[in-house]
Amino acid sequence: MSETRAAILIAQDDSGDDLRLSPILIQEGYRVEALTATRPFLAEFRRLTPTLILLDSGLRGGNVFALCARLREQGDVPILMLVPDDEAMIERAYSVGATDVLLKPVRTAILRRRVRTLIDGQRDALRAQAYEARMQQIFERNRSIQLIVNAKGGQIVDANPAACAFYGYTRDELRSKTIRDLEVPSQTKQETSLFHFHHRAASGQIHDVKIFSSPFESDGQTLIYMIVHDVTRRRKPEAGQSPTTDVLAEALRNTAAALSSTLDQNEVLDRILEQVNLVVPGESANIMLIEAGVARVARSRGYENRLGTISSEDVAMNVRETPTLNWMVENNRALVIPDVDEFTGWITKAPYPDWLKSYVAAPIRIGNYVIGFLNIDSSVPHSFSELEADHLQIFADQAAIAIRNSRLFERVRRQAAEMERRVFQRTAELDFERGQLSAIMDAMTEGVAYTEYIGGEYRTRYVNQALVHMTGYDVEEWISQSVNLFRSKDMSDEDFAHLLEAIGENLVSRGDWIYEARLQRKDGTEFDAMTITTAIRSGKTQIVGAVTVVRDISREKALRQERERFVAYASHELRTPITNLKTRLYLMRRQPERMEEHMRVLETVTDRMKRLVEDLLDISRFERGIIKLEFKDVILQDLLRNVVQIQQPEAERKQLALAMKFEEAPIHVHADPERLAQVITNLIINAINYTPDGNGQIEVRLSKVCDVTGNLALVEVEDCGVGIAEEHLPHIFQPFYRVVSQVEGAGLGLSITREIVELHGGEIEVTSRLGVGSTFRFWLPLLDQEEEA
Ligand code: ADP
Repeated sequence: MSETRAAILIAQDDSGDDLRLSPILIQEGYRVEALTATRPFLAEFRRLTPTLILLDSGLRGGNVFALCARLREQGDVPILMLVPDDEAMIERAYSVGATDVLLKPVRTAILRRRVRTLIDGQRDALRAQAYEARMQQIFERNRSIQLIVNAKGGQIVDANPAACAFYGYTRDELRSKTIRDLEVPSQTKQETSLFHFHHRAASGQIHDVKIFSSPFESDGQTLIYMIVHDVTRRRKPEAGQSPTTDVLAEALRNTAAALSSTLDQNEVLDRILEQVNLVVPGESANIMLIEAGVARVARSRGYENRLGTISSEDVAMNVRETPTLNWMVENNRALVIPDVDEFTGWITKAPYPDWLKSYVAAPIRIGNYVIGFLNIDSSVPHSFSELEADHLQIFADQAAIAIRNSRLFERVRRQAAEMERRVFQRTAELDFERGQLSAIMDAMTEGVAYTEYIGGEYRTRYVNQALVHMTGYDVEEWISQSVNLFRSKDMSDEDFAHLLEAIGENLVSRGDWIYEARLQRKDGTEFDAMTITTAIRSGKTQIVGAVTVVRDISREKALRQERERFVAYASHELRTPITNLKTRLYLMRRQPERMEEHMRVLETVTDRMKRLVEDLLDISRFERGIIKLEFKDVILQDLLRNVVQIQQPEAERKQLALAMKFEEAPIHVHADPERLAQVITNLIINAINYTPDGNGQIEVRLSKVCDVTGNLALVEVEDCGVGIAEEHLPHIFQPFYRVVSQVEGAGLGLSITREIVELHGGEIEVTSRLGVGSTFRFWLPLLDQEEEA
């Protein structure tokens, strides 16, 4: 700090009534030296080298003005003179070289300000001086040719010694010229450019020069600072005297272009071998690539005609153990062996061939790694020098980029192929799984729909075949339009909206929704369905879709109803005769005289009960599929005659005519005669029961008919009784189904009848008109002619 402080030398009259300057300036941070006489002043001045001098004109012991003049001769240190307010004194002070004057008595503030201004100014001036001196030295001593030229007119303002030497003029001679005076007008346009000129020296010699210039301001005028490069020597080889550089540049350019045009590694390597021959011509060349510390020849050229050498593709060398290769790795640069015989480190044993006399090779580097080598061989000693090694290294670095690119590409290609293979495999697996799944789905009897939940609504993405059959909507319709499966007939928009809301809530809260309803098919018909919808979630919370399984429970429902009917009818049918039995037993005790009559009734009742129980057993046997038929050759005419004969008394009791109509030629069927008799009996009993008493006619007919399945026997039982209303017709063959009437019955006869006919491979149907009569007819397959025989 103290070193950089400004030093002030003060000469002041210590008896003066003025304020004392030193304390004030010391307070300001200056280094102050105060003297009270003029005599030791010069000596002190030399010792102190002050930044500022303060001289009091009233100082004793000498002429202060003379001192000021002496100091001024010593240098540019600013001198502040303290003078009384007297014009003559002020003028005198300036005339002896004072930089400024300060009037006495001195005011503190003014003193401070004035001192600061002078010291700062002095500092700047010193700095500028030092800078200029430095610049001057650079200008003078620098070996580059430098000129300073006036921007206006091109007058040479200054020239350094190097310029004088180059142009062969003295500095003054150059100063008398303009830059144009040096220039030689060019013959052709191309020869000169913005920076490129021809300058003539004093000797008349013409130089090729390149000029770099920059303008600057000095004393209000614009000057140009020029550095002149003599490129005469450099340009000559460029013009064709040294072909190697040109060829190298050209080959590198070609290599870059050639290599970037393919990404196939072998092709890249072949092109490198082609191009390297232009840079470093040799008899043969090869590229080795390193893998796990072993360098193998990946590609080679020019070994084909070398008899006695092993195939270069077989050559493999351990890099660490092969001095040449190891040297390149360790030194990370190209190696030249101008004469193999003189090189002690050279491996003489195979695989290096005898003919090889000169060798140059460069490591192929990617980043810090050596990935291979580019080797050039020659059978002539001293074919290669360090120059070739340098060139080969430049070339190898270029080639490395292409090799790296091809390797990256190869890796990407391999990855892509692997990816493709995996995708293919996975797709095949998925296809198989999907095939299995869809086979399972389509084999299901339950309908299955998968719906996706996107943007607040469910959209069907998949339905199985069962659902298509069940609903009549095809897959296309399910997927393209949203079929409202859950919308039953007559459901209002409001109800349907509520239903959908309920479904949504259930899926969110419980994860599923179970619903039994009558659903509509496309054609408007309905079926009873049980649906179970299960939410599908991604992660724990978010619902992404739902699977709905639809079961057609129409049959189940019908069975359930049948069973309910059974319980109702069976209990009713059994209670009635039991009540009857109890009544008769009571009466038998009370009226022993009418015992005969009561016994008869008991018998009838127990018979009826027996029939009922038998029918129930039959029904249950049919249901469980355990009925056993005893098939025989049956002649239908005989069977009909027997049954009609048995039922004749009952018909007569009701005053009904029971007639038979058939041809005599026997009609054979393969049947259980007992069961077949039961069928015909049931139909005749129904005909008798459902025809009002008196004058009715019942006809039993038998004939042979022919249809697509072959020859059939047709049995018809026709009555002119009460008939059956149309709405009952589809149901009368169901067990326990009855039309309410006076006639007693359990509603089992027709269902047993149908089961028996169907077990014989036949069919039964009815046509009927209410109040007109009914005709029941059934067909049985005829026994084959041969079998008949
Ligand atoms: P059940 O005669 O014991 O009631 P069925 O199964 O034999 O039971 O007959 C079922 C129903 O079919 C009867 O209740 C009756 O209403 C009707 N039915 C059967 N045969 C005739 C017929 N020949 N004429 C009119 N209705 C008949």
